Amino acid sequence: MTKKLNIAPINTWINDDSDPLIISGPCSAETFDQLYETCKQLKSYGINIMRAGVWKPRTRPGTFEGNGEEALKWISDIKKDLDVQFTVEVANTNHIDLALKYGIDILWIGARTTVNPFSVQEIADAIKGTETPVLVKNPINPDLSLWMGALERINKVGIKKMGAIHRGFSMTGNSKYRYVPLWNMAIDLKSNIPNLPVICDPSHICGNRDMIFETSQKALDLGYDGLIIESHIAPDKAWSDSKQQITPDTLSKIKKELKIKSNKEKDKSYQHLLNEIRENIDDVDKEIIDIISKRINLVEKIGEFKKEQDITTFQVERWNEIFKSRIEWATEKGLEKDFIEDLYKVIHIGSINVQNKIINRKKANFKI
Ligand code: PEP
Ligand code: MN
Repeated sequence: MTKKLNIAPINTWINDDSDPLIISGPCSAETFDQLYETCKQLKSYGINIMRAGVWKPRTRPGTFEGNGEEALKWISDIKKDLDVQFTVEVANTNHIDLALKYGIDILWIGARTTVNPFSVQEIADAIKGTETPVLVKNPINPDLSLWMGALERINKVGIKKMGAIHRGFSMTGNSKYRYVPLWNMAIDLKSNIPNLPVICDPSHICGNRDMIFETSQKALDLGYDGLIIESHIAPDKAWSDSKQQITPDTLSKIKKELKIKSNKEKDKSYQHLLNEIRENIDDVDKEIIDIISKRINLVEKIGEFKKEQDITTFQVERWNEIFKSRIEWATEKGLEKDFIEDLYKVIHIGSINVQNKIINRKKANFKI
């Protein structure tokens, strides 16, 4: 379902045409000197839009919760001195009043706020009638509707200068990421709201410095509109998120290494080639759908048989055998093991569901 929101193109409200667009700065504005020095170095590397946390949403009380209005005064001085734009996180009406008073250029709504429609509505009402751009981070939990709902609330009060920040999701289980990216969630967001600028936040996704480059490159390969990366003059000494912050110097190296995929779709001859490959992909997808339909027909047959014989749909030995052999066949073809494992898990669940429907068809004929 495509949702048409009235959104101004990002280049009409971000004062920076760098490619890739990078917003950077510390997780938190700790002291004037730390903020000034970080921003000065960033500016010297061609970064024009700074970020800094002024009110920090901390999981437990008793840790550094931001310098509030004091930090806004530093920002206002630094903006004038270095001629840069600034974005800060806001979570309530009071934050917005103060951020606007000190001339903050772009507001962002944090992951812990996006989850709460009351808070998002409060923020939307407070910025109504201003021209202030707003970036909405994805909610902590992987719920696309919450993310879209927050963007809609902001757009509904007339804010056209808006975008989303993808910062990953809290998930149980082990992961190499601090917040698992679930790239498909951001791709779904973009498919639902095609004109929405989407910025990737590799710092919070990774939770460590080492993966920032590869995650940023992945985002650019997927066509994101920009990156927001945390930086600090002395990352190890940072008062929050120290493991994931990098020095402005490292940032400049990452920036140089990143490969930009130009949007050559506009180029006609390129378009021709692209269309040809896309048509081939369409044909292959039709074949895949035909084959899936054939498989489902066979699964229905086996479902009928199991019903007659009164045996369970899930036969563990058969499943283990399928799983093992399919992965062997696929790896012989040079396909990724993880991909085929995931694919067969989905196929297996689909098959069990089809069989269960058949087996339960008669049984459902009883009255309570
Ligand atoms: C941050 O950007 O420092 C921050 C607190 O972000 P998030 O809301 O993504 O946790
Ligand atoms: Mn942070």
